[in-house]
Amino acid sequence: MFWDQESETITRSTLQQLQLKRLQDTVQRVAQRVPFYRDKFKKLGITPADIKSLDDVRRLPFTTSADLRANYPDGLLAVERDEAVRLHTSSGTTGKPKAIFFSRKDVDNAAELIARSLVMTGITKKDVFQNMMSYGLFTGGLVMHYGAEKVGCLVIPSGPGTSERQLMLMQDFRTTAVHILPSYALYFAGFLEQKGIDPRKDLALRKACVGAEPHTEETRRRIEQIYGCDVYNSYGLTEMNGPGIAFECEHKAGLHLWEDNFILEIIHPDTGEPLPEGQTGEMVLTSLKREAMPILRYRTRDITSIIPEPCKCGRTHRRFARITGRSDDMLIIRGVNMFPQQIERVLMSFPQVGRNYVIVIEGLDDMTIKVELTAAGFDGQVEHLSALQKQMVEKLKAETWVRPKVELVPAGSLPVAEGKAKRVIDKRSL
Ligand code: AMP
Ligand code: ZN
Repeated sequence: MFWDQESETITRSTLQQLQLKRLQDTVQRVAQRVPFYRDKFKKLGITPADIKSLDDVRRLPFTTSADLRANYPDGLLAVERDEAVRLHTSSGTTGKPKAIFFSRKDVDNAAELIARSLVMTGITKKDVFQNMMSYGLFTGGLVMHYGAEKVGCLVIPSGPGTSERQLMLMQDFRTTAVHILPSYALYFAGFLEQKGIDPRKDLALRKACVGAEPHTEETRRRIEQIYGCDVYNSYGLTEMNGPGIAFECEHKAGLHLWEDNFILEIIHPDTGEPLPEGQTGEMVLTSLKREAMPILRYRTRDITSIIPEPCKCGRTHRRFARITGRSDDMLIIRGVNMFPQQIERVLMSFPQVGRNYVIVIEGLDDMTIKVELTAAGFDGQVEHLSALQKQMVEKLKAETWVRPKVELVPAGSLPVAEGKAKRVIDKRSL
């Protein structure tokens, strides 16, 4: 099913022409209106006329999150202040946030991309869509909301709310689709279990859009199995609109990035050099349609690779692989590099593992992984627990080359974050 078949199945050559035209317009606009970019162009000795082909995107300067903070609150605005109709900020940071403005057109366009994305997962106007993400400065609430309304769903803006209220709404209005953080989906499953609710029988869920934080394929499978619904990976970042930038289609084999709206590059995170299609590196995005605040070559820090093969669904917008980590999330333990997701993958392969875990690093690179078990897994039998613990340590060692300590704890004993999960507590940097 398509929301906008013509745009979604556009031929690659027409798409590239469109990208070039939109890139040229964007560069022209920021050169005229944003002193930050004007200065950068001057330093690099380039003018908008130098952008003659798509490859010339490489001549443009990168934009980093530090640049956004340095230009807080509105230094990167490319329209008059009164043309901006919405402000969002990026979460999860200390100090000043990154402020992102939307014009009326930007708001409409963001909703359009969400509509494409939701319909791509099989969501229709018949769905009752419960948006369990925070409504506020975070884009996961409002941006997703307007897109789901555009599709024609009955949208329940439940926000993060309490689990009691989420459940009541789900049951009373027969919610069929949710937008939810993967960490909360796991936590909520524990709540349902306590309530004696069987999500497969007692709820009407058929689709879950899961994203806004890193998660593994194992976690997706687990959520699918618990809820008995299809789970789709949703990727976004505030700097580029929020959600609706890239989403999985029904084949669940990588995320289609809406290339008529964004230019996708993968670069080497240390050298900044572009990498060939298929190689893993840092994703860099250039907005092509954002009016209030266009951003050139944004260093997302997210690590992935482009999947060059065309997708069976017929969409021509290329896919990228599930994000394996952020370059700034990489842990260095006793000289060994690893990503928290490697640990999650191992943990989720144990059926006894429950819904929450945290990685604590302290002292001289001592890593302790605290893992909640399911009620059945935490059976109080010391021999079972110590055997399980040993097995986990061995599997983690094989995956990461580091031997961590593992502490097995009962369900519900680890703290739960309000928004995105905080999986790593690195006391070394405190
Ligand atoms: P924010 O702008 O605060 O919503 O944060 C955006 C960041 O969240 C991205 O740069 C990613 O690091 C992370 N993120 C969002 N969606 C996903 C996803 N589906 N998988 C992995 N990481 C994600
Ligand atoms: Zn597809």
